[in-house]
Amino acid sequence: MSDVRDVIIIGSGPAGLTAAVYTARANLSPLVLEGEPSSTSDQPGGQLMLTTDVENFPGFPEGIMGPELMMNFRTQAARFGAEIQTVKASKVDLSAKPYSVWVGDPDAAEPTHQAHAIIIATGAQSLMLGLDRENDLVGHGLSTCATCDGFFFRDHEIAVVGGGDSALEEAHFLSRFASKVTIIHRRDELRASKIMQDRARNNPKIEFLWDSTVVEYLGEHRLAGVKVQNLKTDEIAELPVTGLFIAIGHQPNTDIFKGQVAMKENGYLVTEPGSTHTDVDGVFAVGDVQDDLYRQAVTAAGSGCQGALDAERWLEAQHD
Ligand code: NAP
Repeated sequence: MSDVRDVIIIGSGPAGLTAAVYTARANLSPLVLEGEPSSTSDQPGGQLMLTTDVENFPGFPEGIMGPELMMNFRTQAARFGAEIQTVKASKVDLSAKPYSVWVGDPDAAEPTHQAHAIIIATGAQSLMLGLDRENDLVGHGLSTCATCDGFFFRDHEIAVVGGGDSALEEAHFLSRFASKVTIIHRRDELRASKIMQDRARNNPKIEFLWDSTVVEYLGEHRLAGVKVQNLKTDEIAELPVTGLFIAIGHQPNTDIFKGQVAMKENGYLVTEPGSTHTDVDGVFAVGDVQDDLYRQAVTAAGSGCQGALDAERWLEAQHD
């Protein structure tokens, strides 16, 4: 095991890598455990690695590809001395200081790393349908973020999957651009709040496809439609949409913190209002792992900056 570090950052999306830039520039020599390559959004770089054009990250007037943006974040953090390891934290022990982090075998007697402060930036994942070619089509007609991608579907016919507030909110937002938005819901009753239901039902561009589920994505390199099955009749029909927005919920990547850091019922970490402090002294949470509301790259980056400053001040106070 190496010496006790000032700070370990777990996660490497916009939040984790912004925290890395700031803590590195504050001479805290951060260690970033960036995760391991996978096909889901809990991989190095996070959710932006699964997107194509990013047009709403300030500073890039022509837009930038998600993976390129994340590579820039990473290069910037490394330039100031952040040590970035392509490994996944498998266990943490936040019950005693200094805090311990395991990589690899979680049953190993000795932790892999220890640090005085921990910044948790493990992000969240959009729940997906789990159909063939899903990951390949994300950014090519398939999206989990209307705010990010709605603009690309001006005058297109598109669909949204889900029956909760997110699905209805996304459908309403998308109706500003699309010529028609079909909400595909697996039941004949919505989960969303009454006000959102009324808004969607009164929107002339929104239609509902009840008791239905998407069973196949059509189109080779870009989405060209979906096959939808009626769950009551088993009938299968094709819906010729060029965009499909999946809004069936999100899941924060917080498994390894269960029982150690306060969480909301939905698994998101709790931070003190207006700060990134968790209920564990010296443990900070930044980005989507503690944000079930905004979920944007730029808000995650801002939160990463806050976490770095909070950690820096906290470490300073330990020496007083
Ligand atoms: P949610 O409330 O959990 O709704 C998820 C929806 O997706 C449900 O309708 C569910 O169907 C459906 N679904 C789940 N898994 C599915 C699958 N595998 N295939 C097809 N459909 C599936 O999630 P959410 O809409 O993201 O909202 C999360 C929380 O944020 C909620 O508390 C919500 O009120 C809140 N929120 C609030 C606002 C707002 O107030 N402006 C906006 C967004 C979110 P069933 O209904 O059949 O289970």
